[in-house]
Amino acid sequence: MILKTEGIVLKTFDLRETSRIAIFFTKEYGKVSGVLKGIRKDHKKFGSSVERFTVNDIVYYQYRNSDLHLISHCDLKSYFYPIRQDLQKTLAASYILELVNMIMPPEEKNDRIYRLMMDFLESLQTEKDTSALVHFFQVKTLAYSGFKPHLDTCLKCKKKIDAAARFSMKEGGLVCLDCSAGDVTLENLSPGAVSSILYVERNDWPTCLRLKLTESVQKELKYVLNNFLVFHLGRKLKSAKYLK
Ligand SMILES: [Zn+2]
Repeated sequence: MILKTEGIVLKTFDLRETSRIAIFFTKEYGKVSGVLKGIRKDHKKFGSSVERFTVNDIVYYQYRNSDLHLISHCDLKSYFYPIRQDLQKTLAASYILELVNMIMPPEEKNDRIYRLMMDFLESLQTEKDTSALVHFFQVKTLAYSGFKPHLDTCLKCKKKIDAAARFSMKEGGLVCLDCSAGDVTLENLSPGAVSSILYVERNDWPTCLRLKLTESVQKELKYVLNNFLVFHLGRKLKSAKYLK
């Protein structure tokens, strides 16, 4: 079957002497892997250099019994030049590509993740605070992919959380100070960090961009979100250590 869609390049690697494999996150079909035959021998064969975080229109032949398909056309739509000009921005983009590649199962459409990636890449071109964007992305990805941390009420007594609380990596939620006494596996989380996560979860992307995170909240979010993701994914993201 021949399929057409738009996709963001998550990762590429060389195949034999002349070809390349690219993993795309596509609008219509989710994560799709395909071979670009002969692309390294003839650079003009495709209308794109298929670099990471470019957006492309692709046409591919879908094999029924394989996760690896054959890309017949690939035309560049967005290159995000300002991101490539800046090391911190490139590292932030690399992190979200690795995260999506790790979290999303093959060939499962997810509109909200696709839109989120586009919003992130578009904002990253001009926004100065790259870490805040990464945190917004992490919180929203957790919500959209089903790992949503439980933050409104205490995991144990169900009381509403409105002040300082502690976070359980294992259970993915908050425990109030009364219930958390003596439990050394829980992480401290300030009311500011809790309300920032809730704000990002509940608001759309442009509204999230208006949120200014203080340095101490950033630090907490970085620690808790990175570790929560590692805990649930079962391994570390390689690009995480380069994040600011
Ligand atoms: Zn409680």
